Amino acid sequence: MDTLYIVVPCYNEEEVLAETSKQLLAKITELMNSGKISEKSRIVFVNDGSKDSTWEIIESLHNENHIFQGISLTRNKGHQNALLAGLMTVKDHCDMTISLDADLQDDIDAMDKMIDKYYNGCEIVYGVRNARNSDTVFKRKTAGSYYKIMKFMGADIVSESADYRLMSKKALEGLAEFKEVNLFLRGVVPMIGYKSDVVYYARKERFAGKSKYPLKKMLSFAWEGITSLSVKPIQIITILGGAIFLISIIMLIYSVIRHIIGATSIGWTSLIVSIWAIGGLQLLAIGVIGEYIGKVYLETKSRPKYIIEKYLGDE
Ligand code: UDP
Ligand code: MG
Repeated sequence: MDTLYIVVPCYNEEEVLAETSKQLLAKITELMNSGKISEKSRIVFVNDGSKDSTWEIIESLHNENHIFQGISLTRNKGHQNALLAGLMTVKDHCDMTISLDADLQDDIDAMDKMIDKYYNGCEIVYGVRNARNSDTVFKRKTAGSYYKIMKFMGADIVSESADYRLMSKKALEGLAEFKEVNLFLRGVVPMIGYKSDVVYYARKERFAGKSKYPLKKMLSFAWEGITSLSVKPIQIITILGGAIFLISIIMLIYSVIRHIIGATSIGWTSLIVSIWAIGGLQLLAIGVIGEYIGKVYLETKSRPKYIIEKYLGDE
């Protein structure tokens, strides 16, 4: 029987932790009793530099029952890094991990199927939402187009899969080999390879607390995803630049002909329009290239993605 560690990143989640821990405890006990996982299985909460009493709650859960463990980061590093910190900390103690959000929007009953697929030889099992009825129309639409754009940009991500997934120890060891600082888990996990599968579930509503992903964070998350996975934006700029260059040659020939036939009083409009158009495009191009240079800069610095302040684990 294999050991499962459930990893839950938490940022200001004091409102949900009591209920979440109760439900997860019930689930893990049920899995233990049905003989699917070993008695050494654990639930690990990663405190991502919360400003409320999240860490105190995690500590008291751990003191009550050592099935709960806690990892505290020195400061807020974002969902992806918090999750990675949790996975990398537990990978030597377990055979498989399941990661999920603290708000239990992802149906925890899908875990059974994930574990079955693990025993059938899958190293990674993605949780995929087949219904998003609980999310707002806006969130559904933005998320939908996001996955389309990502695919177009050449990133091989599993549509409608969030960070609810099972990863085996082998897969985690593969993940540990990705040394990049700009880590986008959803894009990197499919790159690990191995046999994988998906499990479908219905996404529920956040039962308490607010989403930690306001539009601004969502946009930056999307942009992060694209620029850390693909160089397609630079290619698009190159193509655009080429097209504009072609147009300018046509314009040149056109102007020379106009000049020869003596009709050169072409107005100010076309001139000013092209100045603005080209200027704008150049700025945009420099900006996008700058983004990538910024990424290279951060990679060469290779700053730590997170620093663990405390780990409440098994002694
Ligand atoms: N989260 C985190 N650090 C952050 C933001 C979010 O660890 O800086 C966690 C949060 O506690 C939750 C998960 O990431 O467990 C997903 O966040 P949320 O439910 O707010 O996102 P949504 O479901 O609205 O996309
Ligand atoms: Mg949520």
